[in-house]
Amino acid sequence: MKTFDFLIVGAGIFGISTAIELSKRKYSVGVLNPDTIPHHLAASTDISKAVRLEYGSDREYFEMTEICIDRWREWNDFFQTPLYHEVGFLMLGRDSLDSPGHSFEKASIELLHEKGYSTEMLQHDELRKRFPIINHSLYPFAHYNPVGGYVESGKVVATLANHALQLGVKIHSQETAQELRVESGRLTTIKTREGESFSAGLTIISAGTSTPFLVPDLRPYMKITGHPVFHIAPPEIDRCKAPWLPVFTADISNTGWYGFPLHPVQGVVKMAKHTKGMELHPWHDDRTITDAEVDEFKNFRRESFPSLANAPLVYTRRCLYTDTLDGHFWIDHHPEVNGLAVSSGGSGHGMKMGPIIGEMTADIAEGKTHRFSARYRWRELDAHTIQAEEARFVENRKLG
Ligand SMILES: Cc1cc2nc3c(=O)[nH]c(=O)nc-3n(C[C@H](O)[C@H](O)[C@H](O)COP(=O)(O)OP(=O)(O)OC[C@H]3O[C@@H](n4cnc5c(N)ncnc54)[C@H](O)[C@@H]3O)c2cc1C
Repeated sequence: MKTFDFLIVGAGIFGISTAIELSKRKYSVGVLNPDTIPHHLAASTDISKAVRLEYGSDREYFEMTEICIDRWREWNDFFQTPLYHEVGFLMLGRDSLDSPGHSFEKASIELLHEKGYSTEMLQHDELRKRFPIINHSLYPFAHYNPVGGYVESGKVVATLANHALQLGVKIHSQETAQELRVESGRLTTIKTREGESFSAGLTIISAGTSTPFLVPDLRPYMKITGHPVFHIAPPEIDRCKAPWLPVFTADISNTGWYGFPLHPVQGVVKMAKHTKGMELHPWHDDRTITDAEVDEFKNFRRESFPSLANAPLVYTRRCLYTDTLDGHFWIDHHPEVNGLAVSSGGSGHGMKMGPIIGEMTADIAEGKTHRFSARYRWRELDAHTIQAEEARFVENRKLG
């Protein structure tokens, strides 16, 4: 039996950032993860994830992202490689800013200005000149914020896993937690599918979509939802590169559509949808994108990026959110089982928070509170719970 002060189950951004933080605090830390790290099915494993200050009226996520952006910049220097690309963030709207459908964009801009950020409202002509690949006639409203961009998420996890090893974290890849053995109200042993046993003073489940299956008490509060991702190979790459195309949202709170500039390594443009998604089982259900979803994407692309209408669609994927019903992360000890905690519930927006998630989870693990931890504690949610992440297109704001 291998024993640690802290055992982390799952090496996505939640788990690996926590392992690093706890190791820095001089604890012995073990990590379990199946196959390789980054894992090909993990939500954190992707070519890009958006980093945005634009969270509507949500001050807490705004302030958390502010801290994270500073730390992403530091990580670029510390790791001597571009993990975070500050290409800016463009919000496009199909209606005037004051229309009811643009409350997300309006509140985001008000908060940015209140916090002293200088941003730009672009009129049609300016939009056409600055970002020529976008169909400016479709978007009467365009707002550009130079602060923000994207992280190469899979590369981030690989880089952090290496750093964790250098700090002395014991990473057990090829180990899949399967059974949590609880005796007299205390978690005593983690048995893996591969036949190994592990124990720790505290075990933190950061297993993404497997989390509510490893901790069934979370099932009423968490859902696994699938979201389509599309990569296209643009014929005219220069106009798809930053600064000609930043990270963008296209009327996101009414459509879900958003996208990225040309990826510097992969040479593709990624577009995806941030909506209610399709509920599915992470281990059993098929993740293939449907023809209807591809057609919907092609319609969006034809309308918003006419010159990309025939660009080859080179890759599609259904990536999974570990959704909490309110859209907030879940970071806390189990209320009844000693020695067990959870750090998960990324709900489609957790990657950008990597630089603070580890710190927050480590504080909770040590029995402390964190400036931002209150909202992510163990809580009662039900079918009436409102999904709070304002950028996300969810009809009547309910995931339940
Ligand atoms: C399509 C899509 C787009 C997104 N876009 C953005 C974005 O633009 N910006 C943003 O900030 N966030 C975004 N997110 C959300 C973000 O990716 C997630 O919130 C974050 O990556 C979740 O990290 P995690 O560590 O909780 O989970 P994961 O990255 O899924 O990691 C979980 C890890 O646990 C491991 N594991 C699973 N089961 C077990 C087990 N039994 N034993 C041991 N290990 C196990 C897995 O192999 C995996 O490595 C997006 C997510 C998706 C799906």
